[in-house]
Amino acid sequence: MKSMKRKVYRSLTIISIISIILVTSFLVLIFYNFHMERTKSFIKDYAHTVGNYLETSNLLLSENMIYNNTTIRATLIDSSGNILFDTYKDPVEMENHINRPEVQKALENGSGDSIRHSTTLEKDTYYYAILLSNNNILRLAQETDSMLSVFLKILPGVLLVLFLILFISAFISSFLGSKILTPINDIGENMENLLIKNELDTLDIYDELLPFIKTLVKQSEKINLQLKDIKERAHIMETIMSNMNEGLILVDNNKYILSINQSAMNLLNSSKDISYISKSFITLCRNIEINETIDTVFNDHKSHDLILQLNNKYIFFSISPVLSNDETLGAIILMVDYTEKYKAELIRREFSANVSHELKTPLTSINGYAEMIENDVAKEQDIKKFASIIKKEGNRLLDLIDSIIRLSKIEDESIKKELDLVDIYSVGKEILDNFHLMAKSKDIKLEFIGSKTVLRANKSMMEELIYNLLDNAIKYTNKGGLVTLKIFKDSPYTLIKVVDTGIGIPIEDQDRIFERFYMVDKSRGKQTNSTGLGLSIVKHIVEYHKGTIDLSSTPNKGTEITIKIQ
Ligand code: ADP
Repeated sequence: MKSMKRKVYRSLTIISIISIILVTSFLVLIFYNFHMERTKSFIKDYAHTVGNYLETSNLLLSENMIYNNTTIRATLIDSSGNILFDTYKDPVEMENHINRPEVQKALENGSGDSIRHSTTLEKDTYYYAILLSNNNILRLAQETDSMLSVFLKILPGVLLVLFLILFISAFISSFLGSKILTPINDIGENMENLLIKNELDTLDIYDELLPFIKTLVKQSEKINLQLKDIKERAHIMETIMSNMNEGLILVDNNKYILSINQSAMNLLNSSKDISYISKSFITLCRNIEINETIDTVFNDHKSHDLILQLNNKYIFFSISPVLSNDETLGAIILMVDYTEKYKAELIRREFSANVSHELKTPLTSINGYAEMIENDVAKEQDIKKFASIIKKEGNRLLDLIDSIIRLSKIEDESIKKELDLVDIYSVGKEILDNFHLMAKSKDIKLEFIGSKTVLRANKSMMEELIYNLLDNAIKYTNKGGLVTLKIFKDSPYTLIKVVDTGIGIPIEDQDRIFERFYMVDKSRGKQTNSTGLGLSIVKHIVEYHKGTIDLSSTPNKGTEITIKIQ
C-alpha cells in the first residue's frame, strides 16, 4: 500500500533539496565572484598606485614601502624572471618566475593576471603583474576564499535551512495529505450512495476526480445490470432444475459435484440434510458401474447411457461430457425413473406368456376331444358329450380372445375414446335387469339403489365396467345371497358400488385381483367360465376416466367394490 502523505513528503523533500542545492550553488558562485572581483579591482588599483609611486619617486621597492604584515604580497621580478624582492620570502629561496602566466602577460602586454588554486583547496590566489619602465615587473598577490571555502562557510546555514525545510515539509505533507485526502475518503465512505443512488452532487468532490467517479458510477451500473441478468438466469436455471422430474447432476472433471437437483437426490435416496456440493460423486452414489461409466465418458469424450436397479427403482442414466476446445470440463448426468416403464414392460412380457398359456389350454382340450372323435376312440354315446365340451371350450376361447381384444383396445392410448354425458343411473339399471335370469337360476336377490346421475364418460366402457362387477358379484355369491348395485352422486363425484354377500376375497389376494389373468381359485374359474381379465378391464376403464377403485372384502361374508369418478 502506498501512503499518499509519504509520497507528498518525499516529493516536497526532493523539491526542497534540489532548490537548496541550486540556491546554494548560485550563492556560492555569486559570493565567490563578488569577492574575486573586489580583490581583482583592489589589487589592480593598488598595483598601479605602487607602480606609479615606484616610477615617480624612483625608489626601489623595499620593506619600508610595502608592509609584509598586510595580506598583499608584493614581488619584484626582473625581465628574466629572477626575483629581486618579495615581501613574504627571501628571494634566494624562490625559483625563477618567467613562466608564470601573469609575468608572461605583463611582459607581452604591460599587465596580466592569473588565479591559482592552492593545494589545500580552501584558498585561491589572485596574481596581478605590471611591467615597470625599467623592465622590471611588479607583481601583487592576494589570497581569496576558494569556492569550496565559500561553500563551507555557508554550509551550517544551509544545513539549518535544510532541516527547517524538512520539518516544514513533514508538517505540510501531513496537513496537505489530510486535506487532500478528506474529500477522497469521503468518496470512499459514501461510495454506496454514490453508486446506488447516483448522489454526485451531495459530495464535495475534486473536479479532477469527477471523470474517474463518473466512470466508476457507469461501471457500477453496468456491473449491477449484468449481475441482475446473471441472477435472473441463475434463478431460471434453478427453477428449471428444481422443478424437473428428471434428476440432474453436474460434476467437474474430478467427479466433484457442482450442482444437483432435488429429483436426483430423491432418485438416489440420498439424505436431504447433507449438502453434496463440492463433494465427490462417490459420496452420493457408491455404485461401481455408474462411477466407471462417468470415467469412460471422461476418457472417450462421448455420451453413455445405462439402466441400473438402485433402491428398488430402475433408473436410466444418460451421462454426457461437457466439452470446451476438446477438453472435458465435466459431465452432465441426467437420471430418469424407469421403474413404471420397466414394470409395465415386465407385465407386458408376463401378459404375452399368460395369453399363450390361456389360449393353449382350451385349444389342447378341443384338439384332444376332436382327435378322439376322428380316431373313432369315442363311443357313439360320448360323441355328443365331446361335441358339447368342444363347444364350451370354443366359447371360452372366444370369450378369452374377446376380452384380450377389449383390454388392448382400452389400453391403446392412441385410440381416442369419446366422452359423452352418460345417464349412468339408467345404464346401471338396464344391465342389472339383464342379470335377472342368471340371478334367478342361483336364487340370488338383486337390488338397485340410486338416484338419477349423469356423468361425463364413455358409455360402452361404463356398461362393461358395471357388467363385469355384477357378473363377478353373482358368480362369486352362493345361493340365496344378495347383490346390490348402488349408483348415486356425492358431488363432485359419481359413485358406483357393487355389494354382494358372496364368498369374499382372501386378504392376501386382494392386491392382485386387478392383475391380468389373476384368479383366486383357478379350478373354480374353470367352472365359472372365468378368464381372470374382468377386473383388469375394470381397472383400466377407471384409470381411463381418472377415477379410483376401493375394495373391501371379507371371506365368507361378502365383497364391496366402489368406483369413484369425477
Ligand atoms: P374372472 O373372469 O375370474 O372373474 P376377474 O378379473 O373378474 O376374473 O376376477 C379376478 C378374481 O377375483 C376372480 O377369479 C375371483 O377369484 C375374484 N373376485 C372377483 N370379484 C369377486 C367377488 N365379487 N367376490 C369374490 N371374489 C371375486
